[in-house]
Amino acid sequence: MPAQDTEAIILKTFPLGEADRLVSFLSRSSGRMRGVAAGARKLKNRYGSTLELLAHVQMEYIERETRDLVRIQQCDLLDSFHAAQSEYSLATGLALVSEIVEILLPEREPAEAMFRLVLLTAREIERRKEWRIPAGYFVFWAVKLAGWLPPLDRCGKCGAQLGSGDGYHASWSPGQLCRDCRHPGMRAISLPAREVAPLFARKGLEKLSEAEAPGGLVGELRDACLDWIEHHTERKLITRNLLETA
Ligand SMILES: [Zn+2]
Repeated sequence: MPAQDTEAIILKTFPLGEADRLVSFLSRSSGRMRGVAAGARKLKNRYGSTLELLAHVQMEYIERETRDLVRIQQCDLLDSFHAAQSEYSLATGLALVSEIVEILLPEREPAEAMFRLVLLTAREIERRKEWRIPAGYFVFWAVKLAGWLPPLDRCGKCGAQLGSGDGYHASWSPGQLCRDCRHPGMRAISLPAREVAPLFARKGLEKLSEAEAPGGLVGELRDACLDWIEHHTERKLITRNLLETA
């Protein structure tokens, strides 16, 4: 089998056997894949710091005929997110992105738009030394790309316009409900927070300022989007609880 050469983002690694690592990664050309980095747990190894969370690498791997795990031959670092990886709150932002990509993308289906979104998000967390706006932007676009973003101006049940009133969401509900239709336990999203959505939709993350997208409003929108991801994937996001302390 000839070696494949691809740009990739490292999603997660797990210890494998005595000396190896199992690596989940997002290939720019082939989508989410898994491979083995042989000897990666040895003190001296050829992968260096290329297998860190959301590291952006040029990767060479070999397909193995009988197994779905590829053999990772070599990685060269293209973008280092060292500051973000080594600071707890920033690393929590990276981990949220990684977990969502893992549960959202099927294996081996090209996902170029998601690749670019993940790379942009990691670069912005590193550049800003701040995770709230980049992670909020990522979560919003992840929901939008998946086709799960409900109309934000009206109730998903009775269709009433929300106007300046709150919308209500929960991880057991696909859309957003008005005050009259809401169920106990649903959380509110305010009009100013809903208005962050069109801003995220039309403006590049690099150009968004804290003044336009204040942390509190971004947090409200993120919370609603995380509910919709949990609803559609039928999974609980583990990193979601860590955000409270990040
Ligand atoms: Zn309603």
